[in-house]
Amino acid sequence: MVTGGTRGIGAAIAERLAADGWDVARLGRADADVADRDAVNAAFARVRVSRGPILLLVNNAGIRADGLAISMDHDDWSSVVDTNLTGAFNCTKAALPDMLKARYGRIVNVSSVVAERANPGQANYVAAKAGLLGLTRTVAREMARKGVTCNAITPGFIATDMTADLNGDLAGAIPAGRVGQPEEVAAAVSFLVSDEAAYVNGATLSVDGGLGA
Ligand code: NDP
Repeated sequence: MVTGGTRGIGAAIAERLAADGWDVARLGRADADVADRDAVNAAFARVRVSRGPILLLVNNAGIRADGLAISMDHDDWSSVVDTNLTGAFNCTKAALPDMLKARYGRIVNVSSVVAERANPGQANYVAAKAGLLGLTRTVAREMARKGVTCNAITPGFIATDMTADLNGDLAGAIPAGRVGQPEEVAAAVSFLVSDEAAYVNGATLSVDGGLGA
């Protein structure tokens, strides 16, 4: 299950995992709002019935609604935290019973390079993405003896719809001198869900051209 698998990074992840041999279900807003736990449970149940237990979950669905904290609309705070953080919790909770039963599971949370620093104008987004790292580490510890791993990716500036409105000059601030491509994030996810990564748990893997270094 790849949330936000309809576009951008999520679509690249879904395509890469399918090429790796996974039977991939993609969840977009038309299927379920990740912030709505009843809708998530119903969507996961539909996938479970049609395709079997959910043993891989990529919590990738996300939005941004920028503004300085002093003037941030409360709805913009809530929508970003509800989608980017609570959405990941809702999906994790919906998938874990299948993973526990199978004593096998892979969860990857798509956080952001900004999660470990400040990013003025994104208090809601940074708080949600930082919270996602805490969720990642805690689920990793809780599930470590059950064959389930939970890791995070922190992408930097990746060329998608989400960043289409941002100033192209930002590339100059990236040590690699260019923005990243969704496929480069997907390659990292592919590793984290592989059998070779069975001992990688609670980790945060940066895919940011050195931006967070
Ligand atoms: P896009 O805006 O291109 O795609 C967002 C995806 O999330 C879409 O598939 C969208 O579905 C889905 N989505 C949004 N809200 C919901 C919701 N409430 N319920 C279900 N699905 C939802 O974003 P990106 O591909 O750029 O970003 C993907 C993830 O990567 C996000 O979590 C983002 O924060 C993170 N990220 C992105 C970076 C970047 O530079 N692009 C950098 C760091 C992190 P639909 O098509 O139905 O609208």
